[in-house]
Amino acid sequence: MRFEELPTPCYVVDESLLEKNLKTLNGVMERTGAKVILAQKAFSMSTMYPLIGKYLSGTAASGLYEARLGHEELGKENHVFAPAYRDDEIDEIISYCDHIIFNSFSQLEKFKDKVLLAGKKVGLRINPECSTQVGHAIYDPCSPGSRFGVTLENFRPELLEGVSGFHFHTLCEQNSDDLATTLNAVEDKFGQWLSQLEWINFGGGHHITREDYDISLLEECIKRMQTKYDLEVYLEPGEAIALNAGYLVTTVLDTMQNGMEIAILDTSATCHMPDVLEMPYRPPLFGSGEKGEKPFTYRLGGQTCLAGDVIGEYSFDEPLQNGDRLVFGDMAIYTMVKNTTFNGMPLPAIALKDTDGDYRIVREFGYEDFKVRLA
Ligand SMILES: *Cc1c(COP(=O)(O)O)cnc(C)c1O
Repeated sequence: MRFEELPTPCYVVDESLLEKNLKTLNGVMERTGAKVILAQKAFSMSTMYPLIGKYLSGTAASGLYEARLGHEELGKENHVFAPAYRDDEIDEIISYCDHIIFNSFSQLEKFKDKVLLAGKKVGLRINPECSTQVGHAIYDPCSPGSRFGVTLENFRPELLEGVSGFHFHTLCEQNSDDLATTLNAVEDKFGQWLSQLEWINFGGGHHITREDYDISLLEECIKRMQTKYDLEVYLEPGEAIALNAGYLVTTVLDTMQNGMEIAILDTSATCHMPDVLEMPYRPPLFGSGEKGEKPFTYRLGGQTCLAGDVIGEYSFDEPLQNGDRLVFGDMAIYTMVKNTTFNGMPLPAIALKDTDGDYRIVREFGYEDFKVRLA
């Protein structure tokens, strides 16, 4: 299928760009011996798992369903972390995963014997209380009152028996200088227990595949924990795996004026790219400029009732026409995993651009997908 034949709205994942990211991550693994696993919550397109499994060591899950998906579709190392586990799910989770990470000593005490009996590894999430991100508290697991990880004040070393690793996750879209800062805090607070462990998991938020990411400092950080404490190092990025590896193709449905030019698209920020509103951020749009940079500026919005369902203001060389196709970039991660049918909006189709440049629809959705979820 050619690009022009894709239905809209449609997420398109570019296999070559995904593979390029995977090679970058695999380079870190090869040079350091660290293991990189996919945080599935960012990108759970299981069609791509065979490719991802060629380069990475496995998967990280946020709970039962992702644990099962990683186990069944990728089938390598499978780690899980959840703020708390349910009694009626823990046995199945343990059956799918080899590393089960607990968020508190009470959860650890409750479930650790089951994990050890199954021959699986027990991990503990620690909270180094080291905020390195400014501006978005909702993405900061070290913010005051955070429910993520055991703080030093609540640490109970007498309960560490059977724990083979520590896990921390404190970063979001950050560079390796913030990882180095975080490692200092981890060592300051929890360093005395590191030598008795087998592994440490640096969590996600490492923007390793971003152009300006300092990979050599990341590798120094990894080697520091390997040599100083004889630890196996895991990284579980989500974003970095499919960063800039996907698009969202949409069609202009109408244009109008209200003190400015406005275009209505057959997509929606709130339904199809909620991080645009939540993060918030301005997704790249191919062939466009900043507001006012090119002669024709439009506010681009969706079909829903939400007044704030606006993707942003973009400028173009020519006026937009009904039927024009627009292509937003960086639309693989945290998009299809988060989309909704609010207002009865259709879910975008999911397509793949293969290494020959051909397009193939992997999945299409319809009315039934809207109806069945709402009973
Ligand atoms: C979100 C999350 C990740 C992945 O984060 P990215 O920002 O997508 O790299 C990894 N581990 C845990 C525990 C997370 O919550």
